[in-house]
Amino acid sequence: MQYPEPIAKLIDSYMKLPGIGEKTATRLAFYTLGMDQKDVEDFAKSLLSVKKDLHYCSICGFITEDDPCPICRDKSRDRSTILVVEHSQDIMAMERMHEYHGLYHVLHGSISPSEGTGPMDINIPALLKRLQKNTEVKEIIVATNASLDGETTAQYLAKLIKPAGIRVTRLAHGLSAGANIDYTDEVTLFRAVQGRTEM
Ligand SMILES: [Zn+2]
Repeated sequence: MQYPEPIAKLIDSYMKLPGIGEKTATRLAFYTLGMDQKDVEDFAKSLLSVKKDLHYCSICGFITEDDPCPICRDKSRDRSTILVVEHSQDIMAMERMHEYHGLYHVLHGSISPSEGTGPMDINIPALLKRLQKNTEVKEIIVATNASLDGETTAQYLAKLIKPAGIRVTRLAHGLSAGANIDYTDEVTLFRAVQGRTEM
């Protein structure tokens, strides 16, 4: 006995999400079936809108409805510093801290020899282009995650950028090993930025 096609398709869709197996997907699909019509319509609209209305900023790679993003457009931000993160969510974490006023660059991942991800597979070429164009940049703060791949990426960036006479710093390790920036609380992040070390 197979499920009717509409629910079978929904189960398949949920199974494409990370960490969701068939059992959870089935539970979610039946839960959706029981939801209010309005909530389901809002949910479907959000799914479509996130793909249709959001883009990556052509300068920094952050998710945005308008290009360039509000942070890149903000004239009051300190243009001498770029803080480099793995994911857009990390910028949200940094902004919640209210202590960093420079610019950002999103790599959309990290260099990962084990997964075959090299420097050219992530948003590093755009960062280099940015540095060539904007000579006012004095410091790059590398805020990749405290994981093996995050470290590899930080080392690579330091080797690449330091010869250009730009300071490269790394967040202090109040962050526990393996820590993801976007799950780190504001106080810990603030200390990590304040105590950043020269690479
Ligand atoms: Zn931007």
